[in-house]
Amino acid sequence: MATFGTLSDRLTETFRNLRKKGQLTPADVDGTVREIRRALLDADVALPVVKEFTAKVRERALGDEVSKALNPAQQVVQIVNEELVAILGGEQRRLQFAKNPPTVIMLAGLQGSGKTTFAGKLARMLEKDGHTPLLVAADLQRPNAVNQLQVVAERAGAAIYAPEPGNGTGDPVKVAKDGVDVARRQQHDIVIIDTAGRLGVDAELMKQAADIRKATDPDEVLFVIDAMIGQDAVNTAKAFQDGVDFTGVVLSKLDGDARGGAALSVASVTGRPIIFASTGEGLDDLEAFHPDRMASRILD
Ligand code: GDP
Repeated sequence: MATFGTLSDRLTETFRNLRKKGQLTPADVDGTVREIRRALLDADVALPVVKEFTAKVRERALGDEVSKALNPAQQVVQIVNEELVAILGGEQRRLQFAKNPPTVIMLAGLQGSGKTTFAGKLARMLEKDGHTPLLVAADLQRPNAVNQLQVVAERAGAAIYAPEPGNGTGDPVKVAKDGVDVARRQQHDIVIIDTAGRLGVDAELMKQAADIRKATDPDEVLFVIDAMIGQDAVNTAKAFQDGVDFTGVVLSKLDGDARGGAALSVASVTGRPIIFASTGEGLDDLEAFHPDRMASRILD
């Protein structure tokens, strides 16, 4: 995953300078915290997240755990690591399955965020684990969306329920609900519902997504967000949280040249865990998200 390059380099540089010192003065700590703050802001991490993060790091770095440490600089790096893991969600959160199948997974997100691609990747990953997912084409807004899901399903070797052509005339709520019934009848243990998104947050589509949520009572509502959208990430995530109340986040395009801040902001701002990282256009480019591994990558 070629992400966080600049942020990672800047933090490494900051810590290299810090390690040159023995005991740390409050001025050393403040200087370091200022550099971390600048690096995070330049990487597009949202301001409230940066403020909270640096305040915590500063407080801990000025406390006993650093002044009494054998290697104070190393202890500061450790604190930054721990606080990074915390803003990325702490413990790894796995996908939740229903006690009584089918498990219903609804996808939401802006158009172009990578929803349809993710649907195929998730189907593939679940199939490898012995599941029998059914993809449901409930994005009837964009003329090509149904076709695209069909192509993805075929590549993933997954079953698909796509009763409407996707010319905007069908009822996506009915398609989604029927899709769950079909899965139950045909004994698919997982249903993945692809829903429509526009280029910007849109009241009508948000209501549609909320209606699909109500009609299908999903076990997971996964909000797919393009890691490259920078500062917009926070507002988009908040809008989807208010509109559909998602249960987890999928970061897509983490392979891109993103400055990575979206990733650092979304879990913290919404309080929802990042469950997957999508890292390429290929069907196998999907990883379970581990906050601790991501923090290590950033600080490597
Ligand atoms: P949707 O409109 O939300 O369904 O988005 P799509 O799944 O159609 O994806 C939009 C574009 O992003 C397509 O060209 C995908 O190939 C591309 N894409 C999706 N996920 C990734 C990813 O993880 N990495 C990269 N590099 N491209 C991706």
